[in-house]
Amino acid sequence: MTYRKGLADLGSGCYAWLQPDGGWGLSNAGLITGAGTSLLVDTLFDLRLAQDMLDGIRSVTDARPVSTVVNTHSDGDHIFGNELLAAKGAEIVASVAAAELMTQDSVDSVLEMLRLPGPDGDFVRHIFGSFRFDEVTVTPPHRTFEGHLSLDVGGREIELIQVGPAHTPGDTLVHVPDARILYSGDILFSGGTPVVWAGPVERWLDALDLILGMDVDHIVPGHGPIATKTEVRASRDYLAYVGEEARKRFDKGLTADEAIASIDLGEWAALPEHGRLAQNVINVYQQLDPESVRFDRLAVLNRMGALEGFLTPEGIR
Ligand SMILES: [Zn+2]
Repeated sequence: MTYRKGLADLGSGCYAWLQPDGGWGLSNAGLITGAGTSLLVDTLFDLRLAQDMLDGIRSVTDARPVSTVVNTHSDGDHIFGNELLAAKGAEIVASVAAAELMTQDSVDSVLEMLRLPGPDGDFVRHIFGSFRFDEVTVTPPHRTFEGHLSLDVGGREIELIQVGPAHTPGDTLVHVPDARILYSGDILFSGGTPVVWAGPVERWLDALDLILGMDVDHIVPGHGPIATKTEVRASRDYLAYVGEEARKRFDKGLTADEAIASIDLGEWAALPEHGRLAQNVINVYQQLDPESVRFDRLAVLNRMGALEGFLTPEGIR
């Protein structure tokens, strides 16, 4: 299937809304239809992107309005459009752990980083500068769940399976059993680099193993083109490798920065956002010894930028 912006028809009344190139903030959404109604998976990073999507899916939703929204996790690029759906009367559903993080603080902290003068804020402006966070009022879910939840969408059964903490505390898979389709949220970055914000890595590997054991043909990832289990295996290989290499260096007494600098990513160094290695190593260190590393989000993002050779306009790395 071609990877272009907009609505992709997966058959069986299931769709994806894709946003190439799948990099920072360019997330995918999903649309699952039932009789006279539909369920939207995730709501994108700002109101303009969300409205653009709502206009773009009208060929489907005019006859089957969105009555339910599922947020796969709490990251802004999957929830900041919620208010547009809430205003139309849709019920928003998310895991308890995701809901706890869906606060206005999550917008304010990004806005604060974007305002940092000079080189400190340059990488954040580079990856997030084109989005309009100032317009966003974070809208938390109306309904929460833990573990599993089964939803009826116009006579169709949809399974929500919480697999977080992994990428974030509340990661949830959205499974459409009768279509053999899975909406994975950011448990899968198809063709990109996973970033372990919450961890531990082992739980993420368990989540990928769960997907590999499921009866699904197509996976709509949180970012990147529509995938199959091939991309799930590739992501699993990357996370297992980085997790093991980081642990070895921790055991040898290397600092997190020494570990980040010394891990050879091999062919994974060619992946987009390969600098996320920094957070992935830091997470392993924090899991092994919570006192070992204390970097705030900005410090982590700037380490990623440095690994990717990002140069500020002034030429200062
Ligand atoms: Zn995302």
